[in-house]
Amino acid sequence: MKLKPTGDLALIKKINTSIVLEAVLKHAPLSRAQISELTGLNKATVSSLVQDLIDSHLVLEIGPGQSSGGRKPVILLFNGTAGYAVGIDLGVNYIRGLLVDLEGNVIAEHQRSLKKHDAAFTLGQLEECIGLLMNEAPESPYGIVGIGVGVPGIVDDKGAILFAPNLKWREVPLQKQLEERFGIPVTIDNEANAGAQGEQKYGAGRGIPNQIYVSVGIGIGTGIILNKELYKGGSGFSGELGHLSIEYDGKPCSCGNRGCWELYASENALLERAAPLGFESLEELLLAASAGDERVRGLIRSIGDYLGAGIANIVNVFNPNVVIIGNRMSRAAEWLEPAVQAAVDRRALPYHRERMRILFAELQEQSAVRGAAYYAISKFFSKIKS
Ligand SMILES: [Zn+2]
Repeated sequence: MKLKPTGDLALIKKINTSIVLEAVLKHAPLSRAQISELTGLNKATVSSLVQDLIDSHLVLEIGPGQSSGGRKPVILLFNGTAGYAVGIDLGVNYIRGLLVDLEGNVIAEHQRSLKKHDAAFTLGQLEECIGLLMNEAPESPYGIVGIGVGVPGIVDDKGAILFAPNLKWREVPLQKQLEERFGIPVTIDNEANAGAQGEQKYGAGRGIPNQIYVSVGIGIGTGIILNKELYKGGSGFSGELGHLSIEYDGKPCSCGNRGCWELYASENALLERAAPLGFESLEELLLAASAGDERVRGLIRSIGDYLGAGIANIVNVFNPNVVIIGNRMSRAAEWLEPAVQAAVDRRALPYHRERMRILFAELQEQSAVRGAAYYAISKFFSKIKS
């Protein structure tokens, strides 16, 4: 058999480099010998690949570690400040942005409210916000490696927003627009998917294989993590569980159906029911609930009851390890939690709920923006590895 040495060897080297980098990302601090043990690659190969990674500023050496006799090994670390990424959570009435390093540590934040949401105005605000965050980045070998954006809508595989009902946007090619403007890779995804990623990587879902993230804000969206991977479905449109039918003859929904879950269990549903009592915002309601207003606590409990009814369906379908409730309504956790838990206990199949836990987002309102930043980081790594 004739070999094609150059192509094949280059490919093998890339694969091995990616294995070594993965070991450093997952297990640092560690020594070259430990990488060799973990990966099964021989010590000479590991040493040469580690040197390449040191030369490309992705791996750092620090002083000698513990020795088990003989020469003390040099310890390796991932160089988290070799580059930076921008994460954006584009909400219906706000933009939240973060600058993070390659380990996801937050370096700078910026937030502004959105008074209008026509696409041209919002794009201008978005670009301004991204620009401000990019200017905050310290000098680094790779600079800004990418931008990730979570949006409240359905996104196709080219990063175009097909439909964002609460922004009233259709067919906005956001990824293309931002890539042209900034000249670096941009990733766009639904905010619930971004929130699911954020909690899985940095929050309440760390180390948990099967996690359903329920983003409860103006509407309801869900992000599905199965075996630690985001499940996106055939066209990337999975997770629209806000439109689960839960009332057979219920209220009409903007999606064309009736009785959708989000009409009964979202922040909007709460505000609608609180309006006759004279409340206009979630913030006002949270203050009243904290002060012991029983009418408001009762309203939140009843939203929790509906939330639990939808979650019971999700639990029966996916048999997740955890369901994480995130976004704005997670701020009402104190009063929501008992009602959600009681509804799930009453409605979900007993085998399914046995070891399943209901949690609230650990990153609170930053789940989506941290997840969006992670998209940018992981795109950068996948390029290095491929
Ligand atoms: Zn609907």
